[in-house]
Amino acid sequence: MTNTLFEKAKPILENLQSHSFQAYYVGGSVRDYIMNKSIHDIDITTSATPDEIESIFEKTIPIGREHGTINVVYQGEQYEVTTFRAEGEYIDHRRPNEVYFVRNLFEDVKRRDFTMNAIAMDMHYQIHDYFNGQQDIADKVIRTVGDPSERFNEDALRIIRGLRFQSQLGFQLDTDTFNAMEQHISDISHLSIERIVVELKKLMLGNAIKQSFNNLKQFQAFSYMPFFKHFDLSKIIIEQPMPLTVFIALLKVQQPNTTSNISDLKMSNQEKKYINKIIEIIEDIPKVQTKLQLKLFVYDYGKEDILEVLSYADTLKVNNIATNSPFIINSRTIVEVAQTLPIHSRKEVDINGKDILTVTDKPSGPWLKATLREIERAIIAGEVNNYQPELIKWVKTHV
Ligand code: ATP
Ligand code: MG
Repeated sequence: MTNTLFEKAKPILENLQSHSFQAYYVGGSVRDYIMNKSIHDIDITTSATPDEIESIFEKTIPIGREHGTINVVYQGEQYEVTTFRAEGEYIDHRRPNEVYFVRNLFEDVKRRDFTMNAIAMDMHYQIHDYFNGQQDIADKVIRTVGDPSERFNEDALRIIRGLRFQSQLGFQLDTDTFNAMEQHISDISHLSIERIVVELKKLMLGNAIKQSFNNLKQFQAFSYMPFFKHFDLSKIIIEQPMPLTVFIALLKVQQPNTTSNISDLKMSNQEKKYINKIIEIIEDIPKVQTKLQLKLFVYDYGKEDILEVLSYADTLKVNNIATNSPFIINSRTIVEVAQTLPIHSRKEVDINGKDILTVTDKPSGPWLKATLREIERAIIAGEVNNYQPELIKWVKTHV
């Protein structure tokens, strides 16, 4: 059996081999291929050093040169090509400062985290599986390469990664691996929050989130992470996949009086904004009582994000977060209201601040913003049509 993504990348392996280097597909793509799952990106491991990779290929990007990773641009796609490497001393339970480039595949796969991620495959689909990764995949077991306690002691992120794979794949954790996770969990306090967040995002979206989240709770993993350590996670129940942003909003709403600061998670401004919006939506849901409030609610937040929140209604309920009568707010009422709104944003209002100043001949001030809001409300309530001559008349009688 072949796979189009591997076939597309094959000339890269051929090219390396024609220069007498070894080259293999490795990591997630090989794991997913063996599992018959769709493959998203291909990692290549090779005996060629970064200099040698750069001299062989026309177009390269040195994205992680110091640890051996060069991106090869080939037919419009980028492929991560990483030199076989072994790792030096681990300090502080984080990735080592030193890496050694080596010339054999075994050394390279030996430093990888789990047996299922340590399988290499050549361009003829020949598998090199030194740690029985295929058997573990068949048995649906997550097991570290080598002694779990040592491997987690070296890099505590592997604990979170293991739980992330459990959530994504629905595999069981091997008993020794599980016990070592529990034993080393406090070491995750040495990790950078950025690395943790990358894994948590994938973990929260996994189909087997329930098991994985319960393990995080059992290990008290969150108490060693910035931001999350301020919450009582024993009060949180997660049984359905959700984006990390929604999970964070849920924590904030359920436990509003913590000293936690979203900025400690070092997520993007766009993500922070989204989290705050989700918090507002969740908090406003129970306040909607009248038809007009429902219209304004849909107008203010937009259909998409409200429907997103509603898809977690069960989770809100089991976490004792106030919701609303399903007769007032449900996905059908939201869609219907959205269809009938006369305007969808301030941009669509047929009068602007400048027009209002001209009509009223008053100096600008905070009243202007309040007036614009009142106009939006009046349009949505159907008290005035969104048509400039009528809006001017409305301003003249109301301001
Ligand atoms: P995904 O399908 O989500 O990309 P992946 O297994 O490819 O999963 P990556 O984070 O892309 O995961 O890492 C690529 C490979 O690098 C892994 O399969 C594993 O072999 C190795 N690896 C990544 N992080 C670590 C780590 N902290 N310790 C040891 N090996 C690691
Ligand atoms: Mg990957």
